[in-house]
Amino acid sequence: MKSLHSQDVKWIVVHCSGSRCNHPFTVDGLINTGKERFGQPSYHYYVQRNGNIVPILPESVQGVHAVGYNHCSIAVCYEGGLDEHGAYADTRTELQKHALYELLKQLRADYPQARIVGHHDLPGVSKPCPCFDVSEYAELNT
Ligand SMILES: [Zn+2]
Repeated sequence: MKSLHSQDVKWIVVHCSGSRCNHPFTVDGLINTGKERFGQPSYHYYVQRNGNIVPILPESVQGVHAVGYNHCSIAVCYEGGLDEHGAYADTRTELQKHALYELLKQLRADYPQARIVGHHDLPGVSKPCPCFDVSEYAELNT
């Protein structure tokens, strides 16, 4: 895995796992999907439906989650993003919303030069990931 240098971190990118809210997507599932697709886990943190925050990658290595931004970003993924029928949806539980807030707040403290964005806020991204408007957390960017 490639190194990620803290002074290079300009973005904290929020993703969804793209899994259905009524089907648990386990930590192993997340890790294995990344390994199958990219040869390594994709994200730094995983926020499960019960609000657990699971460290996946150390912040000292790059994730594989956003083309052109892996070298300058920390990746946070929440479990969900699809409703029970497989349609894109904001499926965050209250526990996830709270956990995301706390995690993003901590990351902003650790990387004061970085801004929180949703995957779809990056140029050239057409998919709706993370399926909600991260401006909800805009106060953390100030
Ligand atoms: Zn994404």
